[in-house]
Amino acid sequence: MTALTDLVFTNGFTADLPADPATDNRRREVRGALFSRVAPTPVKAPRVVAASPECAALIGLDPAELETEDFARVFGGNALVPGMDPYAMTYGGHQFGHWAGQLGDGRAINLGEVEGPGGTLDPWTLQLKGAGPTPYSRSADGLAVLRSSVREFLCSEAMHHLGVPTTRALSLVSTGEQVLRDMFYDGNQKYEPGAVVCRVARSFVRFGSFELPASRGEAGLTRQLADHVIRRHYPELGAPPAPEPIPQEIYVAWLEELRDRTARMIAHWSRVGFVHGVMNTDNMSILGETIDYGPYGWLEDYDPDWTPNTTDAQGKRYRFGHQAAIGHWNLTRLASAVVPLLGETEPLQALVDGYPEVYAAEWGAMLAAKLGFESFEEDLDAPLAAELFRVLGSAETDMTIFFRRLADVTAETEDPFLTLRDAYYAPDEVNEEVRGALASWTASYLARAEQRGVSDEARRERMNRTNPRYVLRNYLAQLAIDRAEKGDDGGVGELLEVLRRPYEDQAGKDAFAEKRPEWARHRPGCSMLSCSS
Ligand code: AMP
Ligand code: MG
Repeated sequence: MTALTDLVFTNGFTADLPADPATDNRRREVRGALFSRVAPTPVKAPRVVAASPECAALIGLDPAELETEDFARVFGGNALVPGMDPYAMTYGGHQFGHWAGQLGDGRAINLGEVEGPGGTLDPWTLQLKGAGPTPYSRSADGLAVLRSSVREFLCSEAMHHLGVPTTRALSLVSTGEQVLRDMFYDGNQKYEPGAVVCRVARSFVRFGSFELPASRGEAGLTRQLADHVIRRHYPELGAPPAPEPIPQEIYVAWLEELRDRTARMIAHWSRVGFVHGVMNTDNMSILGETIDYGPYGWLEDYDPDWTPNTTDAQGKRYRFGHQAAIGHWNLTRLASAVVPLLGETEPLQALVDGYPEVYAAEWGAMLAAKLGFESFEEDLDAPLAAELFRVLGSAETDMTIFFRRLADVTAETEDPFLTLRDAYYAPDEVNEEVRGALASWTASYLARAEQRGVSDEARRERMNRTNPRYVLRNYLAQLAIDRAEKGDDGGVGELLEVLRRPYEDQAGKDAFAEKRPEWARHRPGCSMLSCSS
């Protein structure tokens, strides 16, 4: 267990890669470099609203430190620990399908890379989000509000506990400052409390980090960044140490691995009902982790066309059922950006073309587990799944509750609808046709389980470690935010506590597993979010 001031910073990113020579924090285009050194902007009154002991353990930080004033000062942006080397990264990206040019860390400042308990082979980047302007802030303020910071903090940790690859969150610090926001971009500006989240990941490099130098013909930078990512974050690929060049097949193996991880991550999203909301290429991690929690949402009633993001309400590009396809599109953008590494396009094309098959296999495996089966057998399980999703879509049904309750349906169940009743938003209005389809689907499902020789007990056990009881329902997050905005941190803490064990039925916590109440159906923050954060 290490004290805050004894953390060891190795700073591999800034040590390895070209820096922007200017350090005056002017907003501008930055060329020929991958990052700019910039310090966080101090805030009025940093106060820890919540912190994650599991995330502290990742970096070996003594959990007692989370309570200290020094911790609030460092993670609110008012002080640095010796060895930190703060910087913002450059990147570009395709936003909603269109090339957007230079974006970069407009309100994220990496404090440095710290050694975890595993030493030099265990590097973690600490990043403050909302700690003030950087050269990449464009016309914005570099700040974040409490509302969006609560959401990022809780969701990062919730996703981790659900077993979904994700960046982590160490702390949520309120700043005592007021930040002006137009929540729905409709001319209604108001002041909101400011906050800073400390995110933790092995790396915050994005697909867009490669697209920007590629768009400028800076092939040298593309290669330096790829070599850094491969050597430092994909050691299993066995790249030779610098200055020896990395052979072509290792670049290909890296991208194949990233393709597989990206497909797996999105299959996990489908499993737990997560909708990212802004799958722009600048929000795609080079490690295949969920990154940048903005206007995300959790599927309540099963609706593949749902998106929480009001900015995307027209095209619904990032709707639940389209995320897998967007993963493919985004990988294609990354592959185009790294063509100069290989000098030829065939191997890149081949690996990108392999994505749909990889995704199908990942999703099949998860679907099988959701149904309590060991593996997915295409011929028999695919029609069963297709009919299930048709039934789910035929009446407003809470996906999370449905799968959890389905584990309790057995051959002894007289009327499966009664076991699954809680999952329906208007159970009294579910008609005979829907009930009939549900009954006949459950009969085929149980027959299939029997045919595969899966006992009810084994099925239930597998289902309950695949289908969470507790997810970060949009309205639950909003209730915690409402309290936090009034100075009561309790809601955030309670939610974090429940979300640490999402697969366990926790005594006295039923309220956190209930479907969205009617009042939340159209309330901003519960069903509608925007990129404003
Ligand atoms: P996002 O939609 O949050 O992924 O952000 C897209 C780009 O806008 C990124 O380059 C962000 O750093 C930048 N950005 C978003 N909000 C702010 C802000 N308040 N201040 C400065 N830059 C921002
Ligand atoms: Mg982003």
